[in-house]
Amino acid sequence: MSKTLSHIDPALLAQRADAIADAARELAAFGWTPATSSNFSMRLADDLAAITISGRDKGRLGRDDIMVVDMDGKAVGSDSRPSAETGLHTQVYKRFPEANVVLHTHSRTQSVASRLFAKEGLIRLEGWELQKAISGFSTHESVLEIPVFPNTQYMPELEARVDAWIDSGKPLYAYLINGHGIYTWGRDMPETRRHLEALEFLLGCELDLRRLSP
Ligand SMILES: [Zn+2]
Repeated sequence: MSKTLSHIDPALLAQRADAIADAARELAAFGWTPATSSNFSMRLADDLAAITISGRDKGRLGRDDIMVVDMDGKAVGSDSRPSAETGLHTQVYKRFPEANVVLHTHSRTQSVASRLFAKEGLIRLEGWELQKAISGFSTHESVLEIPVFPNTQYMPELEARVDAWIDSGKPLYAYLINGHGIYTWGRDMPETRRHLEALEFLLGCELDLRRLSP
């Protein structure tokens, strides 16, 4: 524990922790956070974020289940262990300065879709009205590509794949990890919730299409 929380307004931290807990409770009720999986974060400052502590039941989070990390994913003002995937959250904050919220869930639809599309390395969404729920999309005629990265327990490997996608100049709104779940982000909690719910719906539609197509 190197840094302290001295430059963070306790009221701001409490407000962010409550927002994370509220969102987590609702997403858990959808069944998208089974068996203590999933993790959620919000930016607190340029160099700090609030994130869920590893291993907690996401349907029952309180303020004590949220901790602060710096942008290297190191705990600040706490001896708790942040989520194992903290580096993927701080990467979003570092690469997308406008992002203030990151939501990562493990729904059944996200997990199955990630397996089905892993070979192609991406899911190409086209022709769905709900693509317009993703900020920057104004028509169903656009193409929304969601990459599927191989799963690994070694986060720097995943971070390198995400960096490579961004550095190639392709837009990135969300990504799936094979057999694992989805990451998406936004400027605030409502926008990020909208992205996550739209993507869950769109992935479900793609799975149904494959199920029903001859
Ligand atoms: Zn995960």
